[in-house]
Amino acid sequence: MNIRDNILLVKERIAAAACRSGRDPDDITLLAVTKNVSVDLIKQVYDCGFKEFGENRVQELQKKIALLPDDAVWHMIGHLQTNKIKYIIDKIGLIHSLDSLSLAREINRQALLQNMKVQVLLEINISGEQSKFGIPLSEAREFVKLVNCLPGLTVRGLMTMAPYTTYPEEVRPIFRGLKDLSERISRESSEINMDVLSMGMSNDFEVAVEEGATIVRVGTALFGV
Ligand SMILES: *Cc1c(COP(=O)(O)O)cnc(C)c1O
Repeated sequence: MNIRDNILLVKERIAAAACRSGRDPDDITLLAVTKNVSVDLIKQVYDCGFKEFGENRVQELQKKIALLPDDAVWHMIGHLQTNKIKYIIDKIGLIHSLDSLSLAREINRQALLQNMKVQVLLEINISGEQSKFGIPLSEAREFVKLVNCLPGLTVRGLMTMAPYTTYPEEVRPIFRGLKDLSERISRESSEINMDVLSMGMSNDFEVAVEEGATIVRVGTALFGV
């Protein structure tokens, strides 16, 4: 497998999807999801010019942060346990998976202790699947207002995970639902930042881009693992 070819192909597909929907490809960040990927392979991707990486487990994240250059930016994309926050809070560029008020409060507490602000996305369970983390759509607008009042957090936008499917068109309504929600929040509360929409993975990122994703989280299509 040639990692450079994979990167080019994914970037071309993002650019084509952006073009189809009248968007600028530069407005979309390709986040390389490196869970289960070796440090050697991540370094190859880093050498291709990638600086932003996503991990979903705290332990793996800590290990990899220590082994990659300092200018790499790490995103936490998986469910976070409240008691693990203190280990990563000062090393994370963006938390995508803020999914409860208790987690938000603990991040806030740790952030204030360290005199910093933590950038977060609110994970919304648009599909309503029981197995998924995330705030139910019906509670999302209230949740975002509460989080936005915590001084240690900076709300940047929203994140969702679509159900697994081999037919990406099936999940288009999920992505459209997240975009609609972000627009509604912006209309109702213009002080809340809704610049970021993190949605789309290897098998559905083109549809997500067409529906307004600003970050796509791609693992398998880049690394093949
Ligand atoms: C693993 C993972 C991804 C990437 O999934 P692929 O299908 O491998 O692209 C994206 N987001 C989250 C939250 C993940 O856990």
